[in-house]
Amino acid sequence: MSPKDPYLLTPGPLTTSAETKKAMLRDWGSRDEAFIEINAQVRRRLVGIAGGQGSHVCVPLQGSGTFIVEAALGTLIGRRDKALVLINGAYGRRMTKILDYMGRAYVSLETPEDTPPDAHDMEKILAADPGITHVLAVHCETTSGILNPIEDIAKAAAARGRRLIIDAMSSFGAVEINVGELRCEAVMASSNKCLEGAPGFGFAIIDEKSLSARQGAAHSLSLDLYDQWTVMEKTRQWRFTPPTHVIAAFHEALNQFDAEGGVQGRNVRYSGNCLILVEGMRAMGFKTLLPDELQAPIIVTFHTPADPKFDFRAFYDSLNARGYVIYPGKLTQADSFRIGCIGCLGAPEIKGALKAIRETLEEMGVKETAP
Ligand SMILES: *Cc1c(COP(=O)(O)O)cnc(C)c1O
Repeated sequence: MSPKDPYLLTPGPLTTSAETKKAMLRDWGSRDEAFIEINAQVRRRLVGIAGGQGSHVCVPLQGSGTFIVEAALGTLIGRRDKALVLINGAYGRRMTKILDYMGRAYVSLETPEDTPPDAHDMEKILAADPGITHVLAVHCETTSGILNPIEDIAKAAAARGRRLIIDAMSSFGAVEINVGELRCEAVMASSNKCLEGAPGFGFAIIDEKSLSARQGAAHSLSLDLYDQWTVMEKTRQWRFTPPTHVIAAFHEALNQFDAEGGVQGRNVRYSGNCLILVEGMRAMGFKTLLPDELQAPIIVTFHTPADPKFDFRAFYDSLNARGYVIYPGKLTQADSFRIGCIGCLGAPEIKGALKAIRETLEEMGVKETAP
């Protein structure tokens, strides 16, 4: 990494390793046999990480994470279907917006941003409305950093025979998810979060039987995952221009992921980052939005200090000048800011960020960091 590259303590794109960046220094033809093999391997490895061997397939798609969410919902939720959307942040809400665009029916169960959905409440809604075919959930709601109780949600959906679709964008690769055990129809994630690749594509791990029945169901050609899947199976190629450099880099990033010990290894490093960050910030007087037991080791939300000398824009700019980029705005209802603990970062970088924060507060003359 060049010494001028800042560390990204954000929800993505994230800091990637030098090896991952180097893997992009080659132009691939989309029909190049070596590229085709890399693509096939990436798809196989992702099914393995999701625990979907023998039952699920991996369908990658160009674009940011929202594109694969929209594609999965559009392909899997039919015109006569109805979804129950569990909302406790911006990404749950975004799924309802997608359903609005597609004209698909849904109801939602909304809880405050620091409160996970209750599986009993969910079961009551499912029991009362047999028309609901799908449950849509977000694993880590990146708005606040809350980890939603995906096993309980999956059990409740399965008990009522409803299909479960999970947006695991910000947790996939760092928090265990097993589509086989959860009996989950589809899980979506992207190249540029916990698997530490460059941004450029998303992927869905989809139950093969379900997907096989979805020919002609999608509302959009470019977002049709049935078509993307069947064409890729038949030709081993992407339907439209593939993000070749990003896939090559992702393949390299997966090698590092395996070397680190897979999901478990990554979870250990991110949990360590999260702990150092939270303890360091608390030592300065900051308060987290979430209690520790609801906190995913992905991104942490802190209340904005009450001290009138605290100015978020100046705080952000000062950290930036010191080489640490935090998320530039707030998504939560509470007055807050967020610092990520994912990406190619470890204890030295998190400690460096804490030092930059201490220096910045001193420079700003902020004494009262409590909300
Ligand atoms: C990042 C993220 C997305 C996708 O966002 P994009 O900006 O489209 O990449 C979707 N859901 C969650 C939970 C996320 O964290």
